[in-house]
Amino acid sequence: MITVRNLCKRYGSLEVLRGISTEIRKGEVVSIIGPSGCGKSTFLRCLNLLEIPSGGDILINGSSLLAGDADVAGARQRMNMVFQSFNLFAHLTVLENLTLGPIHLLGKNRAAAEGHALELLRLVGLAEKADRFPDELSGGQKQRVAIARCLAMDPEIILFDEPTSALDPTMVREVLSVIRRLAKEGMTMIIVTHEMDFARDVSHRVFYMDEGGIHEEGTPAQIFEAPQREKTRAFINRVRSYSCSLDSPDFDFYALNADLEAFCEKQILPRKARHNLLLLVEELLQLHKPRLANAPVVISVSYSEKTEILELQFEQEGPRFNPLEADDQEDDLGVILIRSFAEDIAYTREGDLNRLALVVRR
Ligand code: ADP
Ligand code: MG
Repeated sequence: MITVRNLCKRYGSLEVLRGISTEIRKGEVVSIIGPSGCGKSTFLRCLNLLEIPSGGDILINGSSLLAGDADVAGARQRMNMVFQSFNLFAHLTVLENLTLGPIHLLGKNRAAAEGHALELLRLVGLAEKADRFPDELSGGQKQRVAIARCLAMDPEIILFDEPTSALDPTMVREVLSVIRRLAKEGMTMIIVTHEMDFARDVSHRVFYMDEGGIHEEGTPAQIFEAPQREKTRAFINRVRSYSCSLDSPDFDFYALNADLEAFCEKQILPRKARHNLLLLVEELLQLHKPRLANAPVVISVSYSEKTEILELQFEQEGPRFNPLEADDQEDDLGVILIRSFAEDIAYTREGDLNRLALVVRR
């Protein structure tokens, strides 16, 4: 249905897309994942000619979109896009947002356009909001309206550019459910997303983009369970981390706590994991404190989205010191608490370095 041949896009000297070639079949759902800045949005924007490619060709059902006589407006209607930021018209009601294009661009009469619009609003669960203005809706509702507006143009292909990344976690689900439903109904879609679980279960194929191209592609099982290339593997198993070094017994405990809370929030960790992490850090600091004047302690926290393991590590140079070893232990309660908040505790010593690694219970 769509054939992309050696698609290139340059901004001045910046080569964003370096020759992408692929084919997308009718009814196929393709997810595009990859690090920020690798050209995912540029690729989608080139596909529907919001950006003019610097080279290569895009064909829909065999005819080139870049030929001199190509029907650009027609191509955009057949390959319609849903944006991260909704892009609804604020001064129009929900219904008017849906009928504007069909009436003015497709030449539909108002009654037919309104009838179809209501049907689509029902499909996305928002028929009762037809007369509201976008500002009266939640983010998730706005994005569902944007999807309905996209469908109102009778597209053959929908391009989604991170449709849920401007939404609060609670609203992500309602938007993904609508997209899932379209997938089930056989709509051809290309979806740029950071929602890995969603990409895994909705797509037929996944593209991992990096270095201006499709670095690796495969079925969700291939890409998520057995990626072949190093960069894909690193991205799929990526670990997010936070670390800090405390070098005085008078460190700012509240600032440290605030940083840890912010880290947990960013990773959308459950409350219990947050709670356990903060308590572990507090107890371990108590045990390390007497030695802080001699050597700094480095605290690192890492979270792997893939394995869902939250790991905490304390490192400090100096004589052998394992705070959890029972003898000469004054703060027994601290040790008991640490054992109850962590499920896997490993002490290692490398040269002068004491390292305590714990897996935080969640
Ligand atoms: P992604 O969507 O994967 O995060 P983008 O496609 O938005 O990445 O951007 C890819 C690269 O192209 C980035 O380095 C970005 O700064 C650059 N870029 C995007 N749009 C423009 C533009 N209009 N002018 C100049 N550089 C741009
Ligand atoms: Mg983008």
